[in-house]
Amino acid sequence: MSESAAPGIDTAFPLSPEMRAAIIAHARREAPRECCGIIAGRDGAPVRVYPTTNIAEGNRFYEIDPKELADLEFRELPNENAEIVAIYHSHPASPAYPSRTDVELAFWPEAVYLICSLEDPDKPYIRGFTIRDGQIAEVTLPA
Ligand SMILES: [Zn+2]
Repeated sequence: MSESAAPGIDTAFPLSPEMRAAIIAHARREAPRECCGIIAGRDGAPVRVYPTTNIAEGNRFYEIDPKELADLEFRELPNENAEIVAIYHSHPASPAYPSRTDVELAFWPEAVYLICSLEDPDKPYIRGFTIRDGQIAEVTLPA
């Protein structure tokens, strides 16, 4: 990931309706496990959702398969002149807010962390955050 996030990405992230739907569909497929994936972008703007495999055990954590992540980060995305702009995962039974573990394992200060909550199965929703040095800040998503 480059250091050159687009201006404004800190406070607003232009998640498209299609990307929102793709993340919710992935969350529903994986429930009761957490799903995870990344969003690739160019110049900080999201262009494509890449679902990845969650290799964490149990239903309360996620860990993106490191091989899939490396393939994306170092091969596929550079080939497409893209980079990781967001990392998403789901909270199948809790609110869309970073858990303590999410904060401890947030190794991407330039990325937006998207969390999809299925706490109310009929009303899934997504919130976005930056997590830097343990500090959580909310990022505005389109309504
Ligand atoms: Zn989480």
